[in-house]
Amino acid sequence: MSQPPVKRSLCAHCGYPTGQCVCHLIAPVTGDVTVWVLQDKHEAKHAKNSARLFALCYDKTRIVSFAEPEQLSAFMDAVDPEQALLLFPGEQALAVESLSQAKIAAIKHLILLDGTWPKAKKMLWLEERLGCFKQGKFTHAPRSQYEIRKSPNAEALSTLEAAVYALECCGNAQISNIRDFFSDVIALQWSKQPEEHKHRS
Ligand SMILES: [Zn+2]
Repeated sequence: MSQPPVKRSLCAHCGYPTGQCVCHLIAPVTGDVTVWVLQDKHEAKHAKNSARLFALCYDKTRIVSFAEPEQLSAFMDAVDPEQALLLFPGEQALAVESLSQAKIAAIKHLILLDGTWPKAKKMLWLEERLGCFKQGKFTHAPRSQYEIRKSPNAEALSTLEAAVYALECCGNAQISNIRDFFSDVIALQWSKQPEEHKHRS
């Protein structure tokens, strides 16, 4: 008896294949700071994009497609540069861990560039308006635990981890729950991977 072709159905909420749905693991977290993720179009297509995972948990996540001028303009209109911090380790970037209480209290918007390093640099170069935002960088970020998708830079944090850590620095006490969610998702993905993938280095 021949098998019918397998159609890969995706969970409507989390976007993962139904057999790997992560919805039961979601840790809902609220906060005062809106997290804007400016997403490269290639990154957006990636099924295991970590910004998507972050958005499943954190209610104030806004994903903006960098390739869509209307979305980008709406983002620029919504965000007051005085209340925003763009995570990027530029020359003038402030160490997020050393910000004063007053500076932290003023932050209402965190902006992340979601993509590889060259892509993130290119976004800044292509979109001059991003130059109006103060930049923030990490000086003692925790090690990345994102092992399923290798980053070109071993020390680089995934977008999810960077957002979690930045919000932690801003005093959100619940945000570490998202880290547990992330570990659970990774463990689940790992358990569903075929053996030969696990042994590939
Ligand atoms: Zn799901």
